[in-house]
Amino acid sequence: MSKIPLPHPVKGPLVAAWNEAHRLGWLARDYASAMACGRAERCSVCGEKRYMFYRRRVIPARLVELWGLTRRQAEALARKESCDCAGCGAKLRARRMAEVLLDLYPTDGRRAPDLRTWARSDEAGAMRIAEINRIDGIHETLENLARFHPSDYIPNAHPGAYVKGLRHEDLARLTYEDDRFDLVLTSETLEHVPDLARALDEVHRVLVPGGLHVFTAPVSPHFAETFPRARLRRDGSIEDLATPIRHPGGDVGYPVFTELGMDFPDWLAHAGFETETRFGPVRDDDLAQVYVSRKPTV
Ligand SMILES: [Zn+2]
Repeated sequence: MSKIPLPHPVKGPLVAAWNEAHRLGWLARDYASAMACGRAERCSVCGEKRYMFYRRRVIPARLVELWGLTRRQAEALARKESCDCAGCGAKLRARRMAEVLLDLYPTDGRRAPDLRTWARSDEAGAMRIAEINRIDGIHETLENLARFHPSDYIPNAHPGAYVKGLRHEDLARLTYEDDRFDLVLTSETLEHVPDLARALDEVHRVLVPGGLHVFTAPVSPHFAETFPRARLRRDGSIEDLATPIRHPGGDVGYPVFTELGMDFPDWLAHAGFETETRFGPVRDDDLAQVYVSRKPTV
C-alpha cells in the first residue's frame, strides 16, 4: 500500500483507515473466539461481566524460540499476557493482582467485590500506594486515589522528574524516602532492571514495616536458578552474558537483564521479605502467579 504514489493529504487518512480496519478485524476475531469458548466472567478490576479475550499471538514465535518455551508454557504465558477484559482491558495478571488486593485489604470488614468498588472506600483512600510502571486496568481504577503515586521508567529523564505529567522512577534508584508506602505494585518489571538485588532492596526501603509489595514476574519453570542475561556497562551500553531476549517480541521490546528461575523466592528472602505465592505453584500450564512480599515489622 505504501508503494502507491498518493498525494500527501490523501495518504495519511487512508493509512489511518487501513490501520483502524486492521484493528477492528482483530477485535472481531477476538470476540468470536471469546464467545465460542464462552469466556465471559465477572472482572475483578471493573466488576463488569465481560468477555475475556485469549490472544495466543501476544507471545510471538521468536520469543518462544529464544526462551525455549514448550507449547504448554507458551499458551500459559499467552493467557497471562492476554485474557483481557473487554470492559477495562485488564489482562489476566492484572485481574489476579486485583483479586489478591481484595483478599488482603477488606473494606468495612468485608472483601470488596471488585477493585473499582474497593477504590471508592475510605480504607483505599487512606493507603499510600506506589505503582512502579503502569499496570493497565489497575492504573485507571486507582489513579484518582489521593495517595496513589504512579510512575514509569522514562529513558534519560532525571530521577523523580515529571515528563509530560508522568513521574520517572528507576526501580533500582527510587527517589522516594524510606518507609513511604503501605503498598508497592509492579507487574513484569523486575526482569528488566539491570540490578535485581538492588531493585528488591529499594522496594524494601520505601515500604513501611508491615507494608506489602504485590507483583507479578516471569518466573521460568525450566530454570532452576536465577541468572543474568545482560548487564549494564559504566557507559550505559548493554553487555550480553547469555542469549539476549527482549519482551514481548523476542528481538523487539525491553531487554531482559535477569532470567528469574525457580529459586526466585530465595532472592526475595535475601532482600528481607516474607513472601507468599498466590495462584501458585509455578507450573507449565499456569505462569500467572502473584507474589505478596511483606516487609517484616521488626
Ligand atoms: Zn474489567
